[in-house]
Amino acid sequence: MTPWPLPPGSTIGLLGGGQLGRMLALAAARLGFDVAVLEPEPDAPAARVAAHAITAAYDDPAALSSLAARAAVVTYEFENVPAAAVERLVDLGVEVAPGARALAVAQDRLAEKTFLNAHGVATVAFAAADSAEAAAAAVAGVGAPVLMKTRREGYDGKGQRWVEHAADAPAAYRALGNVPVIVEAPADFVRELSIICARGRDGGFAVYPLAENHHGDGVLRRSLAPALASPVLLAQAERIAAQILSGLDYVGVMGIELFELRDGSLLVNEIAPRVHNTGHWTQDGCPVDQFEQHIRAIAGWPLGPTAASCGVEMINLLGDDARDWLRWAAEPDTRLHLYGKRDAKPGRKMGHVNRLRPL
Ligand code: AMP
Repeated sequence: MTPWPLPPGSTIGLLGGGQLGRMLALAAARLGFDVAVLEPEPDAPAARVAAHAITAAYDDPAALSSLAARAAVVTYEFENVPAAAVERLVDLGVEVAPGARALAVAQDRLAEKTFLNAHGVATVAFAAADSAEAAAAAVAGVGAPVLMKTRREGYDGKGQRWVEHAADAPAAYRALGNVPVIVEAPADFVRELSIICARGRDGGFAVYPLAENHHGDGVLRRSLAPALASPVLLAQAERIAAQILSGLDYVGVMGIELFELRDGSLLVNEIAPRVHNTGHWTQDGCPVDQFEQHIRAIAGWPLGPTAASCGVEMINLLGDDARDWLRWAAEPDTRLHLYGKRDAKPGRKMGHVNRLRPL
């Protein structure tokens, strides 16, 4: 039986070896844990800072057995881990946090929006379709223009396209790969915000201040935090976070992407059952950052404080941006975080900087 809270010296299993996994592994190590990473790519960013690296497919039975043999609890750095891999780990007697329900909801945009609305959380109007003909009916039902998104496996603006007229829907459906989609009404937002929140094994709840997020080509470029926000807006965001976390009986950190509308109301765009790029500012802006918070939550430790100790502008370093590391390193109020990726392909997330500002 796993002893809770998990004592230092225990091993935490991690599915996924990218930059989020790397920063989780570093935070876990600081609390005295060992991390075992399962990741298909050799030489991955997280594997290079972890105590144990297993290089295999996520659904490789032998790899999952070896992870389960080592780890007291398993977590993940991305939401598209195969559900079957999580089921197998649970069958092998190891706890996976956040749990299978959160993963199932976050993996499917239809399940996600249905869950949110059922728990009193507002989203844009939407309809689902699983054929080219049904897509036309869905677009007509919601009212063009709409954003058509694949139900599964879209990220950073991939797997989605605007449809201006219902007559264009079948072609858009085919262009997205003939896979089930949802169509969404456009959100007429004034700002994109996010809230990073956490729930512990005992139901304890913590939220960070809101971040204001700026995207380019569907990819996050900058976050400003804490975002300027009225107490009413903050209370609204916190209520949304609490409804979602308790509705999923969630354990761990979650990122919730929000649209702020002209009338001050918030809609949820999507939830990420993991640490989130818009929470990187907490590394240098808060006493306990989102990575340590996630490790604390899944290990059954008390959650840490989340108030901002300074303002932060987080800038993602994409592709060749990371070549400027020396310039960033020379700025006294800038903290540089590089992911150790070997290849700076265009648009690839290579690192980020947190530029500190007075509150
Ligand atoms: P997503 O992949 O759902 O996070 O969407 C990526 C980006 O597309 C968001 O950050 C928004 O800028 C934009 N977007 C997504 N859904 C909508 C929508 N229903 N209306 C307007 N913009 C959207």
